[in-house]
Amino acid sequence: MRDLAAHPGLLSLNTATVRERWTLEEIIEGCARHGIRRISPWRDQVAKCGLAKAAKLIRTYGLRLSGYCRGGMFPAADEAGRARARDDNRRALDEALTVGAECLVLVVGGLPHGSKDLAGARMQVEEGIAWLLEQARVAGMKLAIEPLHPMYAADRACVNTLAQANDMCDRLGDGVGVAVDVYHVWWDPALEAEIARAGRTGRIYAFHVCDWLVPTTDLLLDRGMMGDGVIDLPRIRGWVEAAGYKGAVEVEIFSAANWWKRDPDEVLAVVKERYRTVC
Ligand code: ZN
Repeated sequence: MRDLAAHPGLLSLNTATVRERWTLEEIIEGCARHGIRRISPWRDQVAKCGLAKAAKLIRTYGLRLSGYCRGGMFPAADEAGRARARDDNRRALDEALTVGAECLVLVVGGLPHGSKDLAGARMQVEEGIAWLLEQARVAGMKLAIEPLHPMYAADRACVNTLAQANDMCDRLGDGVGVAVDVYHVWWDPALEAEIARAGRTGRIYAFHVCDWLVPTTDLLLDRGMMGDGVIDLPRIRGWVEAAGYKGAVEVEIFSAANWWKRDPDEVLAVVKERYRTVC
C-alpha cells in the first residue's frame, strides 16, 4: 500500500474548508504558503473572484484541481425548472474547463419542491446527467457523481449509495464516474465491494475525507477533522488504493461551529498534520 506521508503532493484542499475566513485569492496564496499543491474550489467562490482571474491565479501558482464544486441539482417540478438546471450545469462545465479541473463533481439534487416521487427524481437525475455527459465527453471533462448520505435524499442528493452511483455509471457509459466521500458512505456495508467495483472500471474520480463526529449536531455543517470521529480512514483509503485510485486525497470539512471559526493558517496546519498521521 502506498504510504501517503511520502506523497504530500496528493493532499488537496476543498476550499469550503476555510471559506468563512478566506476568499479564494487568500486560499490560493495560503495553500502555496503551506505547500498544498491541489485544491477543489466552489463555483460561488470562483464567481466572487472572477472566473478569468481565478483561472489565472490557479495557473500562476501551479495548482492542480482535484475537482470543481459543483454541478447537479437536476430534478425540478416542471420542464422550465429542468431547463434552468441544464443551463446551469452547462455553465458549471464551462467553468470547470476554464479553471482546468480534473472532474466536475455532481451533487445530483433531491426531490422537486412539493414532490414525494423519489423514483421519479432519480430518473430525472439520470436524464440530466446523460444530457450533460454528451457535452462533457466532447469537452473532455469527467463527471463525478458524489453519492450523499441518505439524510440528504430529500433536499440535496437522491443518489445515496455507491452501488446506486455505480449502477448509474454502468447505464450511462464512459466519462462518468464517482466521487467517494467518506462522510457520506462510511456506514455502507457494501462499501468495500462497491469501491472495488468502481475501481474495476477505473471510475473513481475523486476521494474526499473528513470525519463523522459523535454526536453530530448539524446535518450539514458539523463535519469533523480527520481523526476526531469514528471513520476508519486508513481502511477506506486502503480499499480505494487497492481499487487502483492514484488521485488526490481531498479534505472537505464543513464545520460552522469549529473549524470555520478558526484561523485558516491553523486549520491548514492541522489538515497537513492529520493527513500525515490519520488518513
Ligand atoms: Zn465531498
